[in-house]
Amino acid sequence: MATSIPYVRDFDPQYGTLVSVSDRVRRLTANNPGPFTAWGTNVYVVGRGQVDIIDPGPNTDEHFEVLIRAIGEERVGRVFVTHQHSDHSPMAHRLASHFGCQTYGFGPAVCQETLDGADMEAANDVDFMPDICVQDEQLFKSDGWSILALHTPGHTSNHVCYAVPEDNGLMCADHIMGWATSVVIPPDGDMGDYMHSLHKIMDRKFAVLWPGHGAGISDPDPFIRAYIAHRNNRNAQILGLLKAGQSQIKAMVRILYAETDPRLHPAASLSVLAHIIHMVKTDLVVCDGAPGLDSTFCLS
Ligand SMILES: [Zn+2]
Repeated sequence: MATSIPYVRDFDPQYGTLVSVSDRVRRLTANNPGPFTAWGTNVYVVGRGQVDIIDPGPNTDEHFEVLIRAIGEERVGRVFVTHQHSDHSPMAHRLASHFGCQTYGFGPAVCQETLDGADMEAANDVDFMPDICVQDEQLFKSDGWSILALHTPGHTSNHVCYAVPEDNGLMCADHIMGWATSVVIPPDGDMGDYMHSLHKIMDRKFAVLWPGHGAGISDPDPFIRAYIAHRNNRNAQILGLLKAGQSQIKAMVRILYAETDPRLHPAASLSVLAHIIHMVKTDLVVCDGAPGLDSTFCLS
């Protein structure tokens, strides 16, 4: 039975405008729409007057000018990055250098390698390295609000979500997205880690999630439950296909993602691979050599 995720797809990006999403948090959507970014990347500005920036977005002159104009006379104290994908991190050092502050992130990904055939628009910003490496549960205090870093590996190994405890809100970037499921990208992305990170965020019972793309999620608990159920369901579907003798990822994707935009099939292939790698690690499935997009799989 198909799992129904209560997607939130009604969103007006209001490009170039800071939109208040709470008393402490404002959102500016970068004008970089696409199949992986939906309406574009959400840049979050936390605080008033003295502010912190979460995920400054792509490094283009146009976006830089928009950010500088929107921030205006406010002072930027820190630039945080959730992960090193090219729609989130490349503007970080340029913006921090403009405001004379530092960049913060988890540090380099465990694995920078890209799989052959993994043709992704949301490519790695492989050169990104934060000035300051944040730790899981590290708290950054400001006047009237704070930012709590939560390490959420899965989408990438170095993915961090940032909570604003005073709002009980979480900037969850690409860990949880309102408009679609997230992509787990092996070899750096890991499905076992991803499921653990979904539970980690669900257990904290946030009142609102602010994703890296699209609208906020105002009822996180049923949403994350459906996200987890969707993954479990996908796992069962893949096991079913393997049981029926299907051994190739490309053929599985054509069946499992028949109603998905074919431009997203390469990303879908990576998600299926991520599921199967987890099955190999847990001895459910065997593979001819190291698991890859063109490998042949069967149940063990
Ligand atoms: Zn990403």
